[in-house]
Amino acid sequence: MEGLLEKISDAGFDASSFSGEEALVFWKHVREHVASTPQEKAQSYMIRAEFCTSLKQNRASIKELREALDLLTLPADAELILDIRGVLADRLVDHGEFGTALSEYITSSTIAVESSNIDAYVRAVLGMGNLCDAYGDHSRALRYYQKIDGIDHAITSRSLRLRYKLYMLACYITLNKVNAASELIRECEELSILVSDKVLAGQILLYQSRLLRQQGLFDEAMKCLGRVQYAAGNINSNWLSNMIRMELGCCLNDAGKIHLANWVLESAYSRIKKENSPVLNLRLCNALASVCEKQMNFKSALDYQRIAYGIESELIKKIPICELGPNQLRRLSRFELQLKLILSEIENRELKETTEHQKHAVEQLQHDVFTDPLTGLHNRRWLDVQLKDLLLHDIPFALLVIDIDHFKSINDELSHLVGDKAIVSVSSELSAYFSFSTASCVRFGGEEFLVILEHCELEQAETYAENYRKRIFQYDWRKILGERGLTVSVGITLHREGENTQRTFYRADKALYRAKANGRNQTCCE
Ligand code: GH3
Ligand code: MG
Ligand code: MG
Repeated sequence: MEGLLEKISDAGFDASSFSGEEALVFWKHVREHVASTPQEKAQSYMIRAEFCTSLKQNRASIKELREALDLLTLPADAELILDIRGVLADRLVDHGEFGTALSEYITSSTIAVESSNIDAYVRAVLGMGNLCDAYGDHSRALRYYQKIDGIDHAITSRSLRLRYKLYMLACYITLNKVNAASELIRECEELSILVSDKVLAGQILLYQSRLLRQQGLFDEAMKCLGRVQYAAGNINSNWLSNMIRMELGCCLNDAGKIHLANWVLESAYSRIKKENSPVLNLRLCNALASVCEKQMNFKSALDYQRIAYGIESELIKKIPICELGPNQLRRLSRFELQLKLILSEIENRELKETTEHQKHAVEQLQHDVFTDPLTGLHNRRWLDVQLKDLLLHDIPFALLVIDIDHFKSINDELSHLVGDKAIVSVSSELSAYFSFSTASCVRFGGEEFLVILEHCELEQAETYAENYRKRIFQYDWRKILGERGLTVSVGITLHREGENTQRTFYRADKALYRAKANGRNQTCCE
């Protein structure tokens, strides 16, 4: 989607500035002249469909979504296809085409499993459950919602997780499973802290109020409803406000405030009629019927029950009840197993990746512990370990101590930063020259370096030292030091069998001191 938005702003448009009919024209233009790939064209269709819905052009919205699907192919576009099919199924439900909606949910569930898309799978199963709920079979709806429990932890979207739990909660309350409902409501409250969606938070309060009312706590129930906040301009917010009105009417009636109850429910009735939602209408008629019955107004109660019956039989006719039966549930059980397998494979892979990552981190840490950060040479910690190893295995070695001449004056005259650059050059020349496997280079401290040459005679060590000294003397220092050059002095010695390394160091130091005293830029042997 970002790619398309970028193209739109490159073309000089501000997509957010269009709404209503204008947006329909704009998104058609985007599809025809701005979008270039099939995916971008499908996205344009999808957005246009949303504007159609907001203009209550449901037919047109469904048509746009189908056009979008025609542009896409599996498996490459699985994610986008699932998004579009999800919206399409919702539109079909709004339009009363329950059979077609169910086919969409079934297709989506298959694609979702094939592409390991847990969230899309959950949305499809929720859709099936909602169809059962719509025609009043709350137990069967619950069986669909409970299918999600086993893969609950793998849902990526928190608001989706909260939504499926809220659907379950509504079923528990309607089926009078008070304990299960009370437990689930606590879970929903905790989840909603992280979701921060006003409609979902409002739903929790709605169900809390219903639970309180069932326990005869009418005042508390109404206080709960008073805490609901509405999100303006949201379709779901409309649904919520109607549900809240209905619940308030029932609370007032149960609390004996019959006049107010009538007034609230009548106002809900006139609003819900406009919504053209059979499911809401059915609930309201049932609520009104029971209110009238409590008020001993049996005639009105009967009238409402008749209307409710009419709506219900229409719904039952339209909803493919048979296809939502045991066969469908069994099909989902198979999918569930498949998804669990996919999830455990993903978990295993992640675990392996974490172990690899940790191994790598430990290696990196070990490397860092033994490396000088400025030059990348070994440091003194490494030297300690290495010397112990050489002694342990009786490996003979020569030791070179290399010190930059008059280094302090470089720092003083040209800055510490230039001094650092000189140190880096001296050390990279060191590792370039002593690159063979029996040599190891160490930054011993400041501007002082050591080279350990295993199995090396004194004469050979001298030659190496002298060659390196010349290399530094002849190095082109102008880039770093301008007019002045740079030289090193080197002290050389051999480790003698059986002696400790401090003695070897002492001799190498003495040799270095002589090289300095003799005028620097030279090598000396002890
Ligand atoms: P000599 O020829 O006798 O070795 O003279 P020198 O100036 O090289 O020796 P001295 O030991 O007096 O000075 C070493 C200087 O190196 C002192 C210190 O400030 C500097 N130095 C030590 N570590 C670093 C470093 O990491 N970066 C820089 N820029 N300077 C450092
Ligand atoms: Mg020095
Ligand atoms: Mg020094």
